[in-house]
Amino acid sequence: MLKFYNTLTRTKQDFEPLGKAVTMYSCGPTVYSYAHIGNLRTYIFMDLVRRALRYEGYKLKGVLNITDVGHLMADSDDGEDKMVQASRAEKKSPWEIAEYYTKVFFEDLGKLNIGRPEIIAKATDHINDMIKYVEALLEAGYAYETSDGIYFDIQKFEGYGKLSGAKLDEQIAGARVEVNSEKRHPADFALWKKADPLHIMQWDSPWGKGYPGWHIECSVMSQKYLGEVFDIHSGGVDHIPIHHENEIAQNEALTGKQSVNYWLHGEFMLVDGGKMSKSLGNTYTIAQLEEKGYSPMDFRFFCLNAHYRKKLNFTFDGMDAAKVSRERLLNQLAQHKASPAKTPAETLAKYRSEFKAAIEDDLNIPLALGVLFTAVKEPKSIDIYNLALEFDKVFGLSLDKLPAPKKEESAPLPPEIAELVEQRAAAKKNRDFALADSLRTRINEMGYNILDTRDGVVVTPIEK
Ligand code: AMP
Ligand code: ZN
Repeated sequence: MLKFYNTLTRTKQDFEPLGKAVTMYSCGPTVYSYAHIGNLRTYIFMDLVRRALRYEGYKLKGVLNITDVGHLMADSDDGEDKMVQASRAEKKSPWEIAEYYTKVFFEDLGKLNIGRPEIIAKATDHINDMIKYVEALLEAGYAYETSDGIYFDIQKFEGYGKLSGAKLDEQIAGARVEVNSEKRHPADFALWKKADPLHIMQWDSPWGKGYPGWHIECSVMSQKYLGEVFDIHSGGVDHIPIHHENEIAQNEALTGKQSVNYWLHGEFMLVDGGKMSKSLGNTYTIAQLEEKGYSPMDFRFFCLNAHYRKKLNFTFDGMDAAKVSRERLLNQLAQHKASPAKTPAETLAKYRSEFKAAIEDDLNIPLALGVLFTAVKEPKSIDIYNLALEFDKVFGLSLDKLPAPKKEESAPLPPEIAELVEQRAAAKKNRDFALADSLRTRINEMGYNILDTRDGVVVTPIEK
């Protein structure tokens, strides 16, 4: 049985959907810029959840939203709308900005084999629904009006903080010096913002012209398409303390029901061990990785090697290792495909059950990949190739797109290099990492790359 780690209950739980089709909402991109590889890791995670559910025989009803208004520079209510800022910087209308980055976003998803959820919901297509929702919250006494907008009154909602475990008084202590003195609590958040006449994106509302808050978008669009209670909500871990907490408050204030049964969160991607940020110049896009000679599948493969609840550190060494490892895998599969021999049914069944167990254990994709890596070491047989294609329904690595089969070409290494490689292996075994590193440098200086991949050390001449 499929099990997921639920952020809300902080336990791994059996997955029991409400109906025939699993209802799932995923927080989508704010389309003010290109998606970076960290964002894309989170969408690969969404895709893996969807593929695993399908593999387990479920039908899906998934919603992915496109935030094209209302996401301010900080996840709380501070700063300018990201769309408006991009519009000024690029001298285009926010609608042109949204259209362009939405198009590129879906191209990126396509390159990464991330399937499109059944429903794509754009925030600006749902403004009237949002206004109605805010009116209902006001009527129910969970919201109040100030001179600059309508705010959610978090002290009225008892369960505030249940997803992140944060206490209300801690939130007061942690809040910045309050700019908006009309708010009843520092963590009260805007449902609707009143716009000044110069603001580009604004709509008529009972409170004058304005635009919606970011959190209300996800409550409105999830409940509109999936109902008051649905199965899964996914997103990145950064959304737990504010965005998802606020979604819960809005949903549950209005319906009195627990709105989401399983909250799934993907961990962050780091770059060179640190935060990704535009100022550090390390927010790579898929197009940039392609320019550097990597295929989008190398990146997907790189992501699949880490469990979704573990931080993943992006480095170009790691990408090189992923590239080499994936190419070897494809080459091995091409040889299996070309072989008419059979693999015993019990052997295939054993791999199948190990694979299924890994997937069902909170989506342990690295373990599932390990099963595939062991299987390809079997004597060459078309059955192994077909088994890999079966697994690929979850991996989504395009394992059917194979190079022409070639024998593993292993031009013998010059003896002095082979000797250094052996010494390095011994140093690593003895945990003498300083020595291992200096041996690596010597190998590099002598014109060879050395990569540690999950199926062994690969040494190749450095291309001139
Ligand atoms: P945004 O467009 O900022 O709302 O982000 C889109 C998605 O990417 C959200 O689900 C975020 O949680 C996720 N995200 C943002 N930064 C990272 C990162 N460094 N690693 C993984 N996911 C991220
Ligand atoms: Zn959201």
